[in-house]
Amino acid sequence: MDDLEPWQWSEETWRGKVERVRAGRNLKPKSWPGGARCAVALSFDVDHETNELRDGGKSVGRLSWGQYGNRAGMPRILSMLAKEDIKASFFVPAVTALLYPDEQRRVVAEGHEIGLHGWIHEVNTAVPPDKERELHLRSADTLERITGVRPVGMRTPSWDFSEVTLAVERELGLLYDSSLFADDDPYELIENGEPTGMVELPVEWIRDDAVYFNMNRFQALRPYTPPEAVFDIFRREFDGAYEDGGLFLLTMHPHVITYRSRFWIVEELVRHAKGKGDVWFATHAEIAAYVKAQAEL
Ligand SMILES: [Zn+2]
Repeated sequence: MDDLEPWQWSEETWRGKVERVRAGRNLKPKSWPGGARCAVALSFDVDHETNELRDGGKSVGRLSWGQYGNRAGMPRILSMLAKEDIKASFFVPAVTALLYPDEQRRVVAEGHEIGLHGWIHEVNTAVPPDKERELHLRSADTLERITGVRPVGMRTPSWDFSEVTLAVERELGLLYDSSLFADDDPYELIENGEPTGMVELPVEWIRDDAVYFNMNRFQALRPYTPPEAVFDIFRREFDGAYEDGGLFLLTMHPHVITYRSRFWIVEELVRHAKGKGDVWFATHAEIAAYVKAQAEL
Protein backbone atom coordinates (compact mmCIF):
# COMPACT_ATOMS: atom_id res chain seq x y z
CA MET A 1 0.00 0.00 0.00
CA ASP A 2 2.81 2.40 0.88
CA ASP A 3 4.32 2.08 -2.58
CA LEU A 4 1.23 3.72 -4.07
CA GLU A 5 1.18 7.40 -4.82
CA PRO A 6 -1.19 9.41 -2.55
CA TRP A 7 -3.51 10.00 -5.51
CA GLN A 8 -3.83 6.22 -5.88
CA TRP A 9 -4.83 5.62 -2.25
CA SER A 10 -8.18 4.11 -1.35
CA GLU A 11 -10.52 6.09 0.87
CA GLU A 12 -9.69 3.68 3.70
CA THR A 13 -6.02 4.59 3.38
CA TRP A 14 -6.32 8.37 3.43
CA ARG A 15 -9.08 8.32 6.00
CA GLY A 16 -6.98 6.03 8.20
CA LYS A 17 -4.07 8.46 8.15
CA VAL A 18 -6.30 11.36 9.18
CA GLU A 19 -8.06 9.38 11.92
CA ARG A 20 -4.88 8.13 13.58
CA VAL A 21 -4.61 11.20 15.86
CA ARG A 22 -7.52 13.62 15.94
CA ALA A 23 -8.88 16.48 17.99
CA GLY A 24 -11.94 15.45 20.01
CA ARG A 25 -13.88 17.32 22.67
CA ASN A 26 -13.08 20.99 23.10
CA LEU A 27 -11.89 21.35 26.70
CA LYS A 28 -12.08 25.12 27.10
CA PRO A 29 -13.64 25.44 30.56
CA LYS A 30 -16.59 27.69 31.38
CA SER A 31 -14.37 29.53 33.82
CA TRP A 32 -10.76 29.49 34.96
CA PRO A 33 -9.56 29.26 38.59
CA GLY A 34 -10.17 32.31 40.75
CA GLY A 35 -12.63 33.69 38.23
CA ALA A 36 -9.82 34.42 35.78
CA ARG A 37 -10.84 35.29 32.26
CA CYS A 38 -8.07 33.40 30.50
CA ALA A 39 -5.09 31.14 31.17
CA VAL A 40 -1.49 31.97 30.29
CA ALA A 41 0.98 29.10 29.82
CA LEU A 42 4.58 30.17 29.30
CA SER A 43 6.89 27.44 28.11
CA PHE A 44 10.59 27.22 27.45
CA ASP A 45 12.07 24.40 25.36
CA VAL A 46 15.51 23.90 26.89
CA ASP A 47 17.25 22.55 23.80
CA HIS A 48 20.71 24.00 24.51
CA GLU A 49 23.32 21.91 22.61
CA THR A 50 20.90 19.14 21.55
CA ASN A 51 19.84 20.72 18.25
CA GLU A 52 23.43 20.64 17.04
CA LEU A 53 24.10 17.21 18.60
CA ARG A 54 21.10 15.81 16.72
CA ASP A 55 22.62 17.18 13.51
CA GLY A 56 25.95 15.48 14.15
CA GLY A 57 27.61 17.68 16.76
CA LYS A 58 30.47 18.84 14.50
CA SER A 59 29.93 22.59 14.82
CA VAL A 60 31.65 23.91 17.91
CA GLY A 61 30.13 27.31 17.16
CA ARG A 62 26.59 25.99 17.23
CA LEU A 63 27.33 24.00 20.38
CA SER A 64 28.48 27.22 22.05
CA TRP A 65 25.27 28.89 20.92
CA GLY A 66 23.46 26.15 22.82
CA GLN A 67 25.59 26.79 25.88
CA TYR A 68 24.43 30.41 25.81
CA GLY A 69 21.02 29.03 26.72
CA ASN A 70 22.44 27.63 29.93
CA ARG A 71 24.86 30.42 30.88
CA ALA A 72 22.88 33.53 29.99
CA GLY A 73 19.39 32.44 28.97
CA MET A 74 18.16 30.29 31.84
CA PRO A 75 19.32 32.61 34.66
CA ARG A 76 17.57 35.52 32.94
CA ILE A 77 14.35 33.54 32.52
CA LEU A 78 14.35 32.14 36.06
CA SER A 79 15.02 35.50 37.70
CA MET A 80 12.21 37.13 35.69
CA LEU A 81 9.76 34.37 36.67
CA ALA A 82 10.79 34.68 40.34
CA LYS A 83 10.41 38.46 40.26
CA GLU A 84 6.96 38.19 38.68
CA ASP A 85 6.01 35.21 40.86
CA ILE A 86 4.97 33.15 37.82
CA LYS A 87 5.32 29.41 37.34
CA ALA A 88 6.21 28.12 33.86
CA SER A 89 6.89 24.84 32.07
CA PHE A 90 10.30 23.73 30.79
CA PHE A 91 10.51 20.98 28.18
CA VAL A 92 13.89 19.33 28.46
CA PRO A 93 15.66 16.79 26.23
CA ALA A 94 17.19 14.15 28.53
CA VAL A 95 20.66 14.94 27.19
CA THR A 96 20.23 18.59 28.28
CA ALA A 97 19.36 17.41 31.78
CA LEU A 98 22.42 15.14 31.79
CA LEU A 99 24.63 18.04 30.66
CA TYR A 100 23.12 20.45 33.19
CA PRO A 101 21.61 18.53 36.11
CA ASP A 102 21.95 21.46 38.50
CA GLU A 103 20.06 23.74 36.12
CA GLN A 104 17.13 21.34 35.96
CA ARG A 105 17.15 20.77 39.70
CA ARG A 106 16.97 24.55 40.15
CA VAL A 107 13.98 24.73 37.78
CA VAL A 108 12.12 22.17 39.90
CA ALA A 109 13.25 23.73 43.19
CA GLU A 110 11.79 27.06 42.09
CA GLY A 111 8.38 25.49 41.55
CA HIS A 112 8.34 25.12 37.77
CA GLU A 113 7.32 22.12 35.73
CA ILE A 114 9.65 19.90 33.73
CA GLY A 115 8.24 18.03 30.74
CA LEU A 116 9.58 15.55 28.21
CA HIS A 117 11.25 16.82 25.04
CA GLY A 118 12.90 13.74 23.54
CA TRP A 119 16.31 12.23 24.21
CA ILE A 120 18.66 14.31 22.05
CA HIS A 121 16.05 16.40 20.21
CA GLU A 122 15.68 13.57 17.70
CA VAL A 123 13.10 13.82 14.93
CA ASN A 124 10.51 11.21 15.90
CA THR A 125 9.40 10.40 12.36
CA ALA A 126 13.04 9.61 11.47
CA VAL A 127 13.46 7.11 14.33
CA PRO A 128 12.23 3.48 14.04
CA PRO A 129 9.01 3.08 16.10
CA ASP A 130 10.42 0.65 18.69
CA LYS A 131 13.46 2.89 19.12
CA GLU A 132 11.26 5.97 19.55
CA ARG A 133 9.39 4.20 22.35
CA GLU A 134 12.61 3.24 24.07
CA LEU A 135 13.94 6.82 23.86
CA HIS A 136 10.78 8.33 25.41
CA LEU A 137 10.80 5.78 28.23
CA ARG A 138 14.49 6.32 28.89
CA SER A 139 14.01 10.11 28.80
CA ALA A 140 11.21 9.95 31.39
CA ASP A 141 13.37 7.80 33.69
CA THR A 142 16.36 10.12 33.21
CA LEU A 143 14.45 13.32 34.01
CA GLU A 144 12.92 11.67 37.07
CA ARG A 145 16.28 10.41 38.28
CA ILE A 146 17.90 13.85 37.94
CA THR A 147 15.09 16.06 39.25
CA GLY A 148 13.16 13.70 41.50
CA VAL A 149 9.95 14.45 39.61
CA ARG A 150 8.26 12.21 37.04
CA PRO A 151 7.15 14.32 34.01
CA VAL A 152 3.41 14.28 33.23
CA GLY A 153 3.56 16.01 29.84
CA MET A 154 5.42 15.86 26.57
CA ARG A 155 6.34 18.34 23.88
CA THR A 156 7.85 16.41 21.00
CA PRO A 157 11.15 17.84 19.66
CA SER A 158 10.43 20.18 16.74
CA TRP A 159 6.74 19.31 17.29
CA ASP A 160 7.42 16.27 15.14
CA PHE A 161 4.84 13.60 15.93
CA SER A 162 5.09 10.08 14.52
CA GLU A 163 2.52 7.34 14.07
CA VAL A 164 3.43 5.82 17.43
CA THR A 165 4.05 8.93 19.53
CA LEU A 166 0.55 9.07 21.04
CA ALA A 167 0.59 5.36 21.89
CA VAL A 168 3.87 5.81 23.76
CA GLU A 169 2.52 8.86 25.59
CA ARG A 170 -0.47 6.79 26.69
CA GLU A 171 1.78 3.95 27.78
CA LEU A 172 3.70 6.47 29.89
CA GLY A 173 0.39 7.53 31.46
CA LEU A 174 0.93 11.16 30.54
CA LEU A 175 -1.68 13.76 31.46
CA TYR A 176 -1.12 15.86 28.37
CA ASP A 177 0.73 16.49 25.13
CA SER A 178 1.71 19.92 23.82
CA SER A 179 2.91 19.39 20.25
CA LEU A 180 -0.16 19.57 18.00
CA PHE A 181 -2.14 22.30 16.30
CA ALA A 182 -5.83 21.48 15.88
CA ASP A 183 -7.36 24.31 17.95
CA ASP A 184 -6.67 27.51 19.88
CA ASP A 185 -7.82 25.96 23.13
CA PRO A 186 -7.25 22.63 24.94
CA TYR A 187 -8.90 19.55 23.50
CA GLU A 188 -9.08 15.80 24.08
CA LEU A 189 -6.92 13.60 21.86
CA ILE A 190 -8.64 10.88 19.87
CA GLU A 191 -6.62 7.86 18.69
CA ASN A 192 -8.13 5.85 15.82
CA GLY A 193 -11.62 7.01 16.78
CA GLU A 194 -11.16 6.27 20.49
CA PRO A 195 -11.20 9.11 23.06
CA THR A 196 -7.99 8.85 25.07
CA GLY A 197 -8.67 11.07 28.09
CA MET A 198 -5.39 12.80 27.26
CA VAL A 199 -5.34 16.58 27.00
CA GLU A 200 -3.74 18.43 24.12
CA LEU A 201 -2.49 21.95 24.90
CA PRO A 202 -2.08 23.13 21.33
CA VAL A 203 0.95 24.99 20.03
CA GLU A 204 1.42 27.12 16.92
CA TRP A 205 4.48 28.37 15.04
CA ILE A 206 2.93 31.84 15.33
CA ARG A 207 3.46 31.63 19.09
CA ASP A 208 7.06 30.42 18.90
CA ASP A 209 10.09 32.72 19.15
CA ALA A 210 12.32 30.52 16.97
CA VAL A 211 10.47 31.04 13.70
CA TYR A 212 11.02 34.80 13.86
CA PHE A 213 14.58 34.87 15.18
CA ASN A 214 16.42 31.73 14.08
CA MET A 215 19.26 31.90 11.62
CA ASN A 216 21.60 29.48 9.88
CA ARG A 217 25.07 30.72 8.96
CA PHE A 218 25.30 28.55 5.83
CA GLN A 219 21.75 28.74 4.58
CA ALA A 220 19.41 31.53 3.58
CA LEU A 221 17.59 31.36 6.93
CA ARG A 222 17.83 34.74 8.64
CA PRO A 223 15.74 36.47 11.32
CA TYR A 224 13.04 38.26 9.40
CA THR A 225 10.83 39.88 12.01
CA PRO A 226 11.88 42.82 14.19
CA PRO A 227 11.36 42.37 17.97
CA GLU A 228 8.61 45.02 18.01
CA ALA A 229 6.63 43.03 15.43
CA VAL A 230 7.11 39.77 17.34
CA PHE A 231 5.79 41.47 20.47
CA ASP A 232 2.81 42.76 18.50
CA ILE A 233 1.95 39.23 17.24
CA PHE A 234 2.28 37.67 20.70
CA ARG A 235 0.22 40.46 22.30
CA ARG A 236 -2.57 40.06 19.75
CA GLU A 237 -2.58 36.29 20.35
CA PHE A 238 -2.92 36.99 24.09
CA ASP A 239 -5.62 39.64 23.59
CA GLY A 240 -7.60 37.20 21.46
CA ALA A 241 -7.32 34.48 24.11
CA TYR A 242 -8.44 36.97 26.73
CA GLU A 243 -11.46 38.00 24.64
CA ASP A 244 -12.40 34.36 24.03
CA GLY A 245 -11.81 33.25 27.62
CA GLY A 246 -9.32 30.72 26.29
CA LEU A 247 -5.69 29.70 26.53
CA PHE A 248 -2.62 31.72 25.58
CA LEU A 249 0.31 29.33 25.21
CA LEU A 250 3.72 30.63 24.21
CA THR A 251 6.77 28.54 23.25
CA MET A 252 10.21 30.07 23.74
CA HIS A 253 13.84 28.96 23.82
CA PRO A 254 16.58 30.02 26.28
CA HIS A 255 19.05 30.43 23.39
CA VAL A 256 16.65 32.51 21.28
CA ILE A 257 14.47 34.95 23.24
CA THR A 258 16.80 35.95 26.08
CA TYR A 259 19.15 38.34 24.25
CA ARG A 260 19.30 41.90 25.55
CA SER A 261 17.47 43.20 22.50
CA ARG A 262 14.68 40.63 22.82
CA PHE A 263 13.93 39.66 26.38
CA TRP A 264 11.85 42.80 26.91
CA ILE A 265 9.22 41.09 24.71
CA VAL A 266 8.52 38.55 27.46
CA GLU A 267 8.71 41.10 30.27
CA GLU A 268 6.35 43.48 28.47
CA LEU A 269 3.94 40.66 27.64
CA VAL A 270 3.79 39.59 31.28
CA ARG A 271 3.14 43.19 32.34
CA HIS A 272 0.41 43.50 29.71
CA ALA A 273 -1.30 40.27 30.83
CA LYS A 274 -0.99 41.14 34.51
CA GLY A 275 -2.45 44.56 33.77
CA LYS A 276 -5.76 42.90 32.88
CA GLY A 277 -6.07 41.79 36.49
CA ASP A 278 -7.93 38.54 35.89
CA VAL A 279 -5.47 36.24 34.18
CA TRP A 280 -4.36 32.83 35.47
CA PHE A 281 -0.65 32.15 34.97
CA ALA A 282 -0.07 28.42 35.36
CA THR A 283 2.09 25.52 34.27
CA HIS A 284 0.96 23.27 31.45
CA ALA A 285 0.39 20.46 33.95
CA GLU A 286 -1.85 22.68 36.11
CA ILE A 287 -3.88 23.78 33.10
CA ALA A 288 -4.23 20.24 31.73
CA ALA A 289 -5.31 18.90 35.12
CA TYR A 290 -7.83 21.72 35.53
CA VAL A 291 -9.49 21.38 32.12
CA LYS A 292 -9.57 17.60 32.45
CA ALA A 293 -11.31 17.82 35.83
CA GLN A 294 -13.78 20.43 34.56
CA ALA A 295 -14.68 18.19 31.62
CA GLU A 296 -14.87 15.15 33.92
CA LEU A 297 -12.76 13.10 31.52
ZN1 LIG B 1 13.13 21.89 21.12
